[in-house]
Amino acid sequence: SKEIGRNSFQLYKPAMNARSLERMAIESKLKHALINNEFSLYYQPKIDSFTHHVVGAEALLRWHDNELGFISPANFIPLAEELGLIVDIDIWVINAACKQIQIWQKNGLFDKRISVNVSALHFTQGDLAQTVKNALSIWQVDGRFLEIEITESSFIRSLEDAKKVLKALKKLGVSLSLDDFGTGYSALSYLARLPIDTLKIDASFIAKVPDEYGNSQIVKAIVAMAHSLELNLVAEGVEQAHQLAFLQELDCHAIQGYFFSKPLTAQQFELFCEAHRPA
Ligand code: C2E
Ligand code: CA
Ligand code: CA
Ligand code: CA
Repeated sequence: SKEIGRNSFQLYKPAMNARSLERMAIESKLKHALINNEFSLYYQPKIDSFTHHVVGAEALLRWHDNELGFISPANFIPLAEELGLIVDIDIWVINAACKQIQIWQKNGLFDKRISVNVSALHFTQGDLAQTVKNALSIWQVDGRFLEIEITESSFIRSLEDAKKVLKALKKLGVSLSLDDFGTGYSALSYLARLPIDTLKIDASFIAKVPDEYGNSQIVKAIVAMAHSLELNLVAEGVEQAHQLAFLQELDCHAIQGYFFSKPLTAQQFELFCEAHRPA
């Protein structure tokens, strides 16, 4: 039968089996990663393209397993979503970021916004606004120091439901940015209908400026649109000086990427801020 055919097909693909074994190993470990305290946050500076001062940072999740070593979020986040673990992970991330914000404010080392990424599934599987509200209250952090990065996939199931969540977040004083802008199911009507503060231009566009004409025009159009809608902009994945120059020319102020810094540990980030402080 078809069923047997499919199974024997798998049997004769050793590479595929190795991959699924590896996946199973990651799966069972991921289930314990939260309890075992194996997650940490790294912070990637967002830099003013003109002054080179730090204007904010994005918190990025890191998972270290004793046997598997460091596992990229690009690999384990989709798995966490499949396994129903993502809401708990998001809750951990939001609290860890607020805890760090509180520390930095107390010792006066950093008083700009920190952004965190949340899964689109958090819009349907959990109560994102309540999670954020609780975290701000537990860590006594003012909402204006927190930013939530969402992707367009958060709106697919129900724009009206997503809008309610975003409005509740805005009420807490939190900023909202639209991540990976231009790559998803971009419907420009979202921008007018949702309380978004910032667009993050996806790294895939930035990678090809200024050499590729089409991409450069797209970036120009996104920047022009953001300016006219009075949205803030962050360009992601800026690695090279000529990309920075292109963005400066367009008056795109905030830059994130390896050109200035990779994601850093909290301690490394403090040193980075020291070095990039206004005189
Ligand atoms: P993202 O939100 O688009 O984050 C940007 C990714 O680009 C990060 O990868 C960052 O390290 C990387 N990056 C930054 N600058 C450059 C550059 O100049 N060149 C290149 N090649 N890469 C650069 P990372 O940390 O591996 O995260 C991958 C993705 O995993 C993130 O993409 C985000 O979608 C997801 N993710 C990360 N942390 C979290 C989290 O705490 N919660 C959730 N739900 N998702 C997360
Ligand atoms: Ca992001
Ligand atoms: Ca992004
Ligand atoms: Ca991305």
